[in-house]
Amino acid sequence: MSTHNFAARPVGDGPEPDSSPNPFRKDFPVLERTVHGKPLVYLDNAATTQKPREVIEAVERYYASNCANVHRGLHLLSAEATVAFEGARERIRQFINAPSISEIVFTSGTSAAINLVAYSFGRRFVREGDDVVITEMEHHSNIVPWQLLCERSGANLRVVPINDDGEMELDRYEQLLGPRTRIVAVTHTSNALGTRNPLSRIIESAHSVGASVLVDAAQAMAHEIVDVSKLGCDFLAFSGHKMLGPTGVGVLYGRYDLLEAMPPFLGGGEMIERVSFEGTTFKAPPSRFEAGTPDIAGVIGLGAAVDYLTRAGLDRIAGHDTELLAYATARLSEVPGLRMVGTAKDKSSILSFNLAQVHSHDVGQWLDGDGVAVRAGHHCAQPVMDRFGVSSTVRASLACYNTREDVDALVRALLKTIEVMS
Ligand code: PMP
Repeated sequence: MSTHNFAARPVGDGPEPDSSPNPFRKDFPVLERTVHGKPLVYLDNAATTQKPREVIEAVERYYASNCANVHRGLHLLSAEATVAFEGARERIRQFINAPSISEIVFTSGTSAAINLVAYSFGRRFVREGDDVVITEMEHHSNIVPWQLLCERSGANLRVVPINDDGEMELDRYEQLLGPRTRIVAVTHTSNALGTRNPLSRIIESAHSVGASVLVDAAQAMAHEIVDVSKLGCDFLAFSGHKMLGPTGVGVLYGRYDLLEAMPPFLGGGEMIERVSFEGTTFKAPPSRFEAGTPDIAGVIGLGAAVDYLTRAGLDRIAGHDTELLAYATARLSEVPGLRMVGTAKDKSSILSFNLAQVHSHDVGQWLDGDGVAVRAGHHCAQPVMDRFGVSSTVRASLACYNTREDVDALVRALLKTIEVMS
């Protein structure tokens, strides 16, 4: 692999000959491999997506050519690394249409971003008797940090119920809001159900009672345009690894006036203005929230992922996802004994289900034997499992490089599993 001068490649319709009907597949080297002697059919994208070659190359380029710490050195390598690192911050700002790069805080992922807000926003704005509102469909990462905050502060955790289709009960939500509501933390797209939430209405209602809103966008970023200025959310959290980028890096977008009012979360190098034993002063955001050496290679790789998604066109990807979700939903309805969990009218490309005849973990294992990678478990959303009276589901989650042939392979492997196991 060469380590210099990677001009941006056209995505999907470039000069490379492409006989595949899916324009993205050729960009993902892992899709060429086999597992258990079968071609890989990767349908575990909600857990983590695969990475296009240019992301892998951007990470390698940093380690091979510019490896140095950022923001510190006077030498050329450090200057190059800083330019690449801060350049990624600017491209991510553009990607989510945030007003300022000072509002883009690098974290280790969605979980770290939400914990940061629960801790720092909580310390500054949440008091005993206040309300924190979440929904029944949240990932544990958007539940536990708020539970910890409520334990620390004496605030109340209010949970918006979901209906039998896995949709948020909006009337109940609006009844829960009141003058003591400080923050609403809600997922953009449920990782366990696929439900897309009506964020404009949710945010507008929260703001009408003076509450701030954090959106967990972990499952959205690789599938559609997420524009924080249009949405009007106060915080947005997401992970690089679920949007074609590296693991270990993520982003917190926060409205600047809120970030500026919030105390630090982690202490250490890079986030201080002046340290003495008498007292320490802190830098302005985003540095205040970026203690220590960041995941430099990860941030640069995430910048490359954003470039890839931008050139691929999120509208085009969203169109692909909608079409493939409809196809997969229809094909799975042909499988005897299959019960879909999560049938919201507005769904992303996540299919969670159980087979009457076979336990989900066995299904996962049998599918693996046929090269089909899915997730089986509670998906870090045990309250969702409780709501639907199951302990786990099988989850097939789609990405831009998946095809109808992948869905057909899933259905074939499910039918075979039923035949063998029952
Ligand atoms: N929220 C949602 C909706 C998720 O799907 C996930 C990952 N499954 C997370 C939060 C946590 O993301 P991470 O593990 O990257 O911090």
